[in-house]
Amino acid sequence: MTALTIRQIKTQIQQMTNEEAISPLPSFWITDWLLHVINKSALFLITDESYELTEDEQKQFNAGVVKMKQGTPLAYLTGQQAFWSLNFMVNEHTLIPRPDTEILIEQVLNWISDQPTQTHGKRLLDLGTGSGCIAISLAYELKKDNWQVVAVDLSSEALNVAQHNAVLNEVTNIEFVQSSWYDKLSTQDTPLFDIIVSNPPYIDEADEHLTRLVAEPISALSAPNHGLADIEHIVQQATHYLCKGGLLAIEHGYDQGRAVRQLFLDNGFGSVSTVQDYGGNDRVTLGQGC
Ligand code: GLN
Repeated sequence: MTALTIRQIKTQIQQMTNEEAISPLPSFWITDWLLHVINKSALFLITDESYELTEDEQKQFNAGVVKMKQGTPLAYLTGQQAFWSLNFMVNEHTLIPRPDTEILIEQVLNWISDQPTQTHGKRLLDLGTGSGCIAISLAYELKKDNWQVVAVDLSSEALNVAQHNAVLNEVTNIEFVQSSWYDKLSTQDTPLFDIIVSNPPYIDEADEHLTRLVAEPISALSAPNHGLADIEHIVQQATHYLCKGGLLAIEHGYDQGRAVRQLFLDNGFGSVSTVQDYGGNDRVTLGQGC
């Protein structure tokens, strides 16, 4: 195999992304993949254009580009994804944290800071934690105020990833529970939660986009009843686990805002509102328990 230099690879990347109609790979994915393979920072691509990749690096780089062309997202190749101000390990048992989900973090923190009484030493529950990105980001932001977070997932593989991410981000005010939604949480002897959050599966099982995904865990993405079944369960049961006046905040699909608000209202929630993501789509619905 002829060794390629950074300069030659840069030209290749340019060509690949010019053929965007055939291979819709974002050029930054290829560049970031290259940096991951050669274990260098972005500056190296400018300062060391004549660096020749070793044979192993070349093989790893090529194999990754093939996988990305076949539909594997960059984060599953590098095994990591930035979210909020933190870094998360991901693998194919977890969804890749998405920028739109940061809206949920912002909304929860805003709600806490708007509370008239002090919110110190309270409890937050994250249902379907996956990589743990929501639970860990909130635990990280709220540790100075002594909040405790409980993060639940049905998948033991996902919980392993989430536990690793808590250690990686030095977050200790968090507990992980393997459970289908609320099933393993007791309503009897544990205090209720002040906040419940979730980014549950919400894509319609019949959505054609799902068939194009080659790497993501489909069970983390899709749900019956036009994608609303898990959201409905979470909202209906929330009243048994949420303090009076507590916050329920759920991420959902761009076309589910009205249906989710109705579910909140039908289950007695007040101050119900939907917030849009950075793309201007309905994304998170919030309400206060009664
Ligand atoms: N809570 C995780 C996230 O927001 C996982 C969500 C999921 O698996 N549906 O990425």
